[in-house]
Amino acid sequence: MFAWEHPFCVRDDSINDITESNGQEEMSMELSQLEATRRSLIKFAVTGMAAATLAPGAHADTPMVSEADPTAKALHYVEDAANSSVRTDKSADCANCMQYKGMAGAADGPCVIFPGKSVKAKGWCSAWAKKP
Ligand code: SF4
Repeated sequence: MFAWEHPFCVRDDSINDITESNGQEEMSMELSQLEATRRSLIKFAVTGMAAATLAPGAHADTPMVSEADPTAKALHYVEDAANSSVRTDKSADCANCMQYKGMAGAADGPCVIFPGKSVKAKGWCSAWAKKP
């Protein structure tokens, strides 16, 4: 409130309102742009991770399945198919199994049966199914 007001000087709070309003709109726009950027980054990261997970041969950091692993034991997994006592198809190994996601010619790669782990290309387990 002004202590003194000239009759021709009209105090106009609407100017401050506009300034504040524009400031809020600008801040709101910046926040929405940041939110859009954040969403884009998350999408990019998730898409990239999914692609890296599903990509054949994408196993650089995945640990190898151990023959001592309980699931591996249950499925009679062996690192060398030639050492299996239960394998009947002598041509079957991880490299020609449909569950194997390693690159052709690689020594090892991911297997759908052992999420987050890799198996030897020349390995084998009882979940083997011929790659189409
Ligand atoms: Fe190997 Fe196939 Fe068994 Fe996986 S499911 S360990 S690729 S034989």
